[in-house]
Amino acid sequence: MHAESEFTPAPTLERDGFVLARLDDLVQAARAGSLYYLSFGLACCAVEMMHAAASRYDMDRFSMIPRGSPRQADLIFISGTLTNKMARALRRVYDQMAEPRYVISMGSCANGGGYYHHSYSVVRGCDRIIPVDIYVPGCPPTAEALLYGILQLQRKIRDKRVFSR
Ligand code: SF4
Repeated sequence: MHAESEFTPAPTLERDGFVLARLDDLVQAARAGSLYYLSFGLACCAVEMMHAAASRYDMDRFSMIPRGSPRQADLIFISGTLTNKMARALRRVYDQMAEPRYVISMGSCANGGGYYHHSYSVVRGCDRIIPVDIYVPGCPPTAEALLYGILQLQRKIRDKRVFSR
């Protein structure tokens, strides 16, 4: 005969009136579910970013709200060709964003220079200027591809441990 205390079932809201969860899971779920992205486009890829935000795909469904100031944003899409001239401004905008901050590099140009890889005026990948969390391939990537990248970023955020090791 088993002792009564040998197996203790997890508490449920209905039976016990409370549930237990790791603080890591709660904090990271809140972060992943409230990404505020900067309204920031560099070239043609930005049109697909706008497409993803508009009514057909409606990024608001993922609690993603566009912000006009980097101080209120924790996500930036690098959507388009990054020129040497723009690189300094991008770095400044990134430095002004709230922490923890995330970067999605969208399209061949942002990922590695794309068609303009050998141009004298284009940065061969925005990760030479700022750290990138997710790369979305394509020229341009479709709105669906961008949404898939966003879902991957949310998964990455949820999997990260802040308090426990
Ligand atoms: S990857 Fe293609 S669509 Fe996107 S900015 Fe470059 S040229 Fe334009």
